[in-house]
Amino acid sequence: MRKVYMDYAATTYVKPEVLSEMLPYYGSIYGNAHSVHSYGREAAKAMELARSRVANAIGALDREIFFTSGGTESDNWAIRGVVSASKKGKHIITSQIEHHAVLHTCEQLQKEGYEVTYLPVDEYGTVSLDALKAAIRPDTALISIMFANNEIGTIQPIAQIGKIAKENNIVFHTDAVQAIGHEPIDVNEMNIDLLSISAHKIHGPKGIGALYVRKGVRINNLMYGGAQERGKRPGTDNTPLAVGFGKAIELACTDLEARNMALTEKRYQILNGVMSRISNVRLNGHPINRLPGNLNFSFSFIEGEALLLSLDLKGIAASSGSACTSGSLDPSHVLLAIGLPHEVAHGSLRVTIGDDTTQEEIDYFLRELPPIIERLRAMSPLTVED
Ligand code: PLP
Repeated sequence: MRKVYMDYAATTYVKPEVLSEMLPYYGSIYGNAHSVHSYGREAAKAMELARSRVANAIGALDREIFFTSGGTESDNWAIRGVVSASKKGKHIITSQIEHHAVLHTCEQLQKEGYEVTYLPVDEYGTVSLDALKAAIRPDTALISIMFANNEIGTIQPIAQIGKIAKENNIVFHTDAVQAIGHEPIDVNEMNIDLLSISAHKIHGPKGIGALYVRKGVRINNLMYGGAQERGKRPGTDNTPLAVGFGKAIELACTDLEARNMALTEKRYQILNGVMSRISNVRLNGHPINRLPGNLNFSFSFIEGEALLLSLDLKGIAASSGSACTSGSLDPSHVLLAIGLPHEVAHGSLRVTIGDDTTQEEIDYFLRELPPIIERLRAMSPLTVED
């Protein structure tokens, strides 16, 4: 069967150039990067290069990069680490559309006595700067607002949020897991104090990410152990994964503008193709200010899960707007936050494409989707005319 991958926001394959740099570190170069002998020194050298590649991608210093197990750990650590070390107070500002790694951490902290303001977003998924300013209190210890949303692709005004945080002397964290490799990021220009990233979204290996922590920001550990990552994130260095992450981020941030233009063109082709072939469909997320490879549609009168399964039968891999796969049929919190009624949110489809998405794949998707929608609507108790 033909297979078409349109779920790049979920994860990506490891690029051959990335894998080939990693492989020696699973074989002959196996030293512990903290050992003093030549085996250790070789591994330590690779860790240094990986760290500086990650730092370069976001305009940070090498010593401000801490390797973690991925975006989830980076988000948990940033939030819990900062608020538990803060002398300002126990108030956190975040948004209603954050990834669960942020939301669930905040919910847990509420149970432990912290107060959290979840900022609403507008119909496009953008946080209001005025609402942010109004939410700031003398005891606000942290603002955590994601760079770009994983479901609807909307990009937040990060530099302006960073400026507001700085003016109010509040630490600012952003989850840039979906933005890295797509949007130019400079932590100094944007006044970002902490930033979470992950390798597997940018053709790197799964199970490694990083937290950028601006020099001077107070942060407590999540874990205690050895001296690795300057004692802040202990555990024997995972040299092969770090090497892969370093290579992947370097590739992902090369020719960013040209690659984004090409990706945006493909996105518009899919968008126009869907809009012209199918009625009663809406695009979720910001029409312009969005990740170049992200599309999120709501098709009236159908179930997103049924749509996903039908697409899968045709070999097309995409993602839906409900959390059915996680055992619940609740519609996505992001789609509800932008104001979609439950039944509309249920009929949602996320299509995320990458550099490797071909014209042939786009044509195949645009050919297969309309008859599937037609068939599902014909089966629906709510007809288009109702
Ligand atoms: N934050 C965002 C915005 C994400 O999209 C993801 C992954 O889906 C994560 C955090 C979690 O990253 P990881 O899979 O590396 O734990």
